[in-house]
Amino acid sequence: MKKKVLLVEDNHQNMRLLEMTLRADNYTLLKATDGEKAMEIAVKDKPDLIIMDIQLHGMSGLEVTERLRQMPACSHIPVIAVTAYAMRGDKEKAIEAGCNAYISKPIDTRELRGLVAEVLLRRQKDNT
Ligand code: MN
Repeated sequence: MKKKVLLVEDNHQNMRLLEMTLRADNYTLLKATDGEKAMEIAVKDKPDLIIMDIQLHGMSGLEVTERLRQMPACSHIPVIAVTAYAMRGDKEKAIEAGCNAYISKPIDTRELRGLVAEVLLRRQKDNT
């Protein structure tokens, strides 16, 4: 079955880049442009993985991740954090909030594809 990947990104161009990068790998891509919508889709569609822009208007990506971690239905969905600049401490903050992995903008598309595949595989192994 196709894996469902939820893309959370409020910048149109970055969203396009994520879509174009992951389209090649045959995932079902779901999209949200703000934190509220991301939570709604996560609850409704139970994606296999979430790629989470940290800097969103309104609720931040870290806040969304923290909230999801407290919901039994969503607490185990892996989250890859995406941040605009590699600020010192950002990685730690993302991991503290419950993110499983971390990637910096500008996004290296090969790195992203590899990371997504790796996190999905790791999750599959954990479930068997
Ligand atoms: Mn953003």
